[in-house]
Amino acid sequence: MKRTAYKGYHSFDYLEPSADYKVFELAAEIDRVKSTPVEVSKEQEDRVQRLLTEHFAISLHDHCFIVPKDFGDLADYRRQGRDWTGYAGMARSGLDAVFDCLMDGTATITSKAGWKWDDIIYDLGMRLSDIAHQDFIIRGETVADIKRAKANGQIAFIASLEAATPIENEVDRLDILYGLGIRSSGIAYSEANTLGSGLRETRDGGLTEFGRQAVRRMNKLGIAIDISHSGDQTSMDTIETSDKPIFITHAGARTLWNTKRMKPDEVIKACAAKGGVIAIEAAPHTTLTKKHPKHNIDGFMEHFEYCAQLVGIDHVAFGPDTLFGDHVGLHHYFAKQLSIKAAHGQQEFTEVAFVDGIENPAEAFPNIVRWMVKHSYSDGDIAKAIGGNILRVLDEVWWPQKS
Ligand SMILES: [Zn+2]
Repeated sequence: MKRTAYKGYHSFDYLEPSADYKVFELAAEIDRVKSTPVEVSKEQEDRVQRLLTEHFAISLHDHCFIVPKDFGDLADYRRQGRDWTGYAGMARSGLDAVFDCLMDGTATITSKAGWKWDDIIYDLGMRLSDIAHQDFIIRGETVADIKRAKANGQIAFIASLEAATPIENEVDRLDILYGLGIRSSGIAYSEANTLGSGLRETRDGGLTEFGRQAVRRMNKLGIAIDISHSGDQTSMDTIETSDKPIFITHAGARTLWNTKRMKPDEVIKACAAKGGVIAIEAAPHTTLTKKHPKHNIDGFMEHFEYCAQLVGIDHVAFGPDTLFGDHVGLHHYFAKQLSIKAAHGQQEFTEVAFVDGIENPAEAFPNIVRWMVKHSYSDGDIAKAIGGNILRVLDEVWWPQKS
């Protein structure tokens, strides 16, 4: 396994349990369920570990937190606004950097609808406070931070948002979010907001005038823009308006699985034409296919191969969107906040208890690289897909930009 600087820290070790916070029994970070590793030979495994050591491994979308074991506690756990980061699990992830969208739509600290400014700031500050009390996971705010993390066996934690909803009608709040460490933001989540439409809306009016201002401000600040949850017209308008490449941080191809959560060819092509990247999503029951109606790593990789065929290996990456704990249960619990029904649409599928082979952040990247090695991808193509393409975009998008 790739060597890391992890020394055994657990979230909030600097506080006194019960006296300082309410204690919850958390899900196991490692081996919670019997997920099947992608089977490779000894030589292939050596190559996998070498690739993860030599090249940048960056997840464009994951949640490295741990949810409670018993969901009877979930509302209470959420309201406490204190997320446990899965440091021990992350030490096995093979990653050098991770874009983490924090509690996002489930940040229900002051309201039960979510996406409130106060909740987002509370969530961000709490998470970064914990991270500041150890030295394995570091804040990732520049490309230099990612390089430093890799050199030192650390992981750069890149704070991100799935939607810009909390800025309301205040474009300067983007500067504030940047100052606090946010380096990537979505436009809209499921419902429309002041910027544009999300995937749940039946009439997508495209990017609003305020949305255009926000996109321009994010370009100037150096916040990467994500259209994963945006409606199709809002996505196309965002790509056109942005003078920098944009990300689809976690999605798949609608041609393979016809739901609004997946992207049509037109959007994937426009994103790539602008220099951007589509990273493939593995949250339960998203990247299904006709060949793989039971969600597993093979269906997920079918979406990857389809996109790589469509726009080329330089424009694909991975944003598995995994977490530590029962993700399917979380979808049931937060079905309303996460618009699970709208995301699944009319497609029929067999529900799984977990996505076999790509269940949590600890196993996602090692299994992705195993799968690519097993399917005869070259070292060069694997390096691009697991992080090289993302770094190229960040060099153009983040501040200071490459001259
Ligand atoms: Zn998402």
